[in-house]
Amino acid sequence: MARINGFIGRRDFLKLAGTGSLAIAATTISGSLITNTSKTAIADVSPANPNPVNPNQALKLLLDGNQRFIQQKRQYPHQSLAHLQLLAKAQYPFAAILGCADSRVPTEIIFDQGLGDLFVVRVAGNVASDMAIGSLEYTTAVLGTQLIVVLGHKNCGAVAAAIKNEPLPGRIGYVVEGIKPALSNLNSTDAVIANIQYQANKLQQSSAILAQLVDTGKLKIVSAYYNIDTGKITVIT
Ligand SMILES: [Zn+2]
Repeated sequence: MARINGFIGRRDFLKLAGTGSLAIAATTISGSLITNTSKTAIADVSPANPNPVNPNQALKLLLDGNQRFIQQKRQYPHQSLAHLQLLAKAQYPFAAILGCADSRVPTEIIFDQGLGDLFVVRVAGNVASDMAIGSLEYTTAVLGTQLIVVLGHKNCGAVAAAIKNEPLPGRIGYVVEGIKPALSNLNSTDAVIANIQYQANKLQQSSAILAQLVDTGKLKIVSAYYNIDTGKITVIT
């Protein structure tokens, strides 16, 4: 089996998915990826991460980094040319973030992390879309990441738009539609938190791969809230 960076390669991952015990059928219909997963999904996928970071260690690394950010004591880790070159051979991100695209919530900065540390999916409203879920399945099942943080934030415009519930131009509506199920007559802070928890639950409920990793103790999914006034991240589940 061909491997990429010491791991099962993406192509083999998808091949397994289509033909082997990884019973995943992926079909492209009108540009969208439709994925069906079975409960027995990932038995054959064993990420070859030589130095795995368990979920609790990973969360501590993130929260320690956030403390450095708040206290203006950032260390800018893993940003040397030597580290860049080392990473060219392999990546082993210790945490995955499903965060908002908001320019005030730049992931590596607020967690004080560097190259190769975080596998980041950012989309307005931190919506767990099919594409976002696919990316997170890849980093957890193939790269061996054991923590996903769903990170929402104060004054999220996407959540505010979902509360307003007015017609929106272009494809902005797609984002908002992904948030609406999380809301029911909530104020803005409660709505942000409800949306974070909704998207975190959706990751597990709509992905057999992520659900099985959680069930077998190989993955933890955490919800967190970022206060754009203070820079502080608070774990909410
Ligand atoms: Zn936002």
